[in-house]
Amino acid sequence: MRLWRGIGSGTAGAAWLIGLGLSGCGWLGVAERNPKPPPNLLMITIDTLRWDQVGCYGGPPGLTPHLDRLAADGVRFESAFAQIPLTLPSHASILTGLYPLAHRVRDNIGFVLSRELPTLAEQLQAAGYRTGAFVGAFVLDRRFGLDQGFETYSDRMSETDAAPGSERRGAAVVKDFRDWLGPASARPRPWFAWLHFYDPHAPYDPPPEYRRGSGKRPLYQGELRYTDAALGQALAAAQGAARERALIAVVTADHGESLGDHGEESHCLLVYDATLRVPLVIWASDQRFGRAVRVPGHALLIDLAPTILELAGAAALPAAQGRSLVAALAQGTRLPPRASYAESLYGQLNLGWSELRVLRGPRWKYIRSSEPELYDLVNDPAERVNLAPLRRDEVERREAELLELIRSQTVSSAVAPERAALDQETRERLASLGYLGGAAPAPQADQELRAPIGPAPAARVADWVRIQAVVELAQAGRCSEADAELEPLQQGGAVPALADRYLGECYRRSARPARAVEVLERALRRGAADVALLLQLGSAYHEQDQEAEALARFQRALELDPESVEVLNNLGNSYMVLGDWRRARATFERAVAARGGHSSAWNGLGVACFRLGDHQRAVESFGRALELDPEQPDALYNLANVLELVGRRADAVESYRRFLTLAPADAYAQQIERSRRALERLEKAAPER
Ligand SMILES: [Zn+2]
Repeated sequence: MRLWRGIGSGTAGAAWLIGLGLSGCGWLGVAERNPKPPPNLLMITIDTLRWDQVGCYGGPPGLTPHLDRLAADGVRFESAFAQIPLTLPSHASILTGLYPLAHRVRDNIGFVLSRELPTLAEQLQAAGYRTGAFVGAFVLDRRFGLDQGFETYSDRMSETDAAPGSERRGAAVVKDFRDWLGPASARPRPWFAWLHFYDPHAPYDPPPEYRRGSGKRPLYQGELRYTDAALGQALAAAQGAARERALIAVVTADHGESLGDHGEESHCLLVYDATLRVPLVIWASDQRFGRAVRVPGHALLIDLAPTILELAGAAALPAAQGRSLVAALAQGTRLPPRASYAESLYGQLNLGWSELRVLRGPRWKYIRSSEPELYDLVNDPAERVNLAPLRRDEVERREAELLELIRSQTVSSAVAPERAALDQETRERLASLGYLGGAAPAPQADQELRAPIGPAPAARVADWVRIQAVVELAQAGRCSEADAELEPLQQGGAVPALADRYLGECYRRSARPARAVEVLERALRRGAADVALLLQLGSAYHEQDQEAEALARFQRALELDPESVEVLNNLGNSYMVLGDWRRARATFERAVAARGGHSSAWNGLGVACFRLGDHQRAVESFGRALELDPEQPDALYNLANVLELVGRRADAVESYRRFLTLAPADAYAQQIERSRRALERLEKAAPER
């Protein structure tokens, strides 16, 4: 962990300093009056919970009775906002107290939270808390870095739900939490638990007893009913467990859901309040904050970590960009006005459209885009009338203010955007949850202020709906139907690479690499060269035995992302097919150095070394491959062969035997036969001395 500085001048910087001052005072006050033991802390994030569907926010009655009761017995923040309408980055903001500008996780796919950033859980752990996280979907898998500071990080998904192995129901999350709590007698330390309920996320598929009618909205509401019941179970478990300490519960959402507003069905692309506004309720079992308290003003999800740390009496996050809400909690006073930032780079990263950056003040909401938008939230909270064309002066002022805020909150020196190792398995599991894209490089810190280019997402939202339909068909293997659905966009010349990438993948899976090449080359001709596209295209050429073409595409992908293990791996394989063992070895050496761990890259390195006569390095490499994945048949078979060749017979026998127990018969028929013969040969020979 490295601490850093980087917040200085500008509106938001000043606000941050003030926030810190307030929270310090609040903490001292609480400590003097209240020498109680540190409370147990329960943070619940309900994925995709739209604020106006919650009863205590004026939503339809009966959907969220448990959450409504918490608000009635605790504190409800009238207006709370996410900083980004995407699951992984929004949770990164919750756990670090940082804007995406600073933690640099900009999308669900392709990003990892840097280990250098201190987190809420790490601070609580340092303060003596027992820490546990229980998440409901693969998008928050520990491989994406949110596990920092959690002694227990429960992310094993169910095999039975809608996306097998990628999500699980709220009840399963609560069960893991309850098991972790254990009996109260075995709990001398205070605990902090984060529960993530994924159920309201599309596709909407509530258990039958929570369904009331069909259609998207009733089904979504069924999911809310179900999730609220799970919330009730979690609260009961947490309370039943903790008589000796107070329990403080914080319940919010990572973002909302558009439900058709502004033409958007779900969330991620647009930055209207249907997806950025979230419910926020804080409740204490000893009612230390009073009952039915309502806090006016703008709270942000980046405020949660500073708030929770202050409630725990733990050390603050040194660089947090949010501020503690504790002073307002205790008194129900209006939060001091401030300007805040939000973003969605989804369209830019995945579709070649304009980025969207938001400046929110007490009255105006400005959206920086290739077609700027300005809304008067007091008179037009639904953001229906874009005033930007009429109020040029206001737009100019807000633009300057936003740029200053971005400048002051971007942390350029310390944290480079970290890339997730986006292997095929990860990509497929994310896709099974509906997460698409994820190939374009993130902006560097010095690119945050560049002018937005490309079509404005708000003007292309109908295309986006169609693109999602294409991808859905393509994922279901219905390539021709997907192709037909894409046709109207072809005529408008508006097919983004993302659609062609999934269509190309569909054709590849259907063993039609020639058509895959056509589709993917079309995307490339439109200038949409991104890493995932080039990888697909290279693989399609490879499947057609056009290895030189494949190699050229992989080389181009490497120019875009010189650190990508997946690209280096494909490139190395291509060199091997072409018999260029020296380049293959050099490429695999880069691949294993890039992240130090990728089983198939180590296997490739072993093969290349073997071919170049370096048997020792080959043995080492296969060994490393098996350390990372002890059940990789290729590496086991290769290791057995080279061990036999260098005369380590006993080791060779063991590897052949392991290979025979693990290798699937249909895929490895030839190798299985050879292994049997090798074993006969080795067992007949004299024992090793
Ligand atoms: Zn989410």
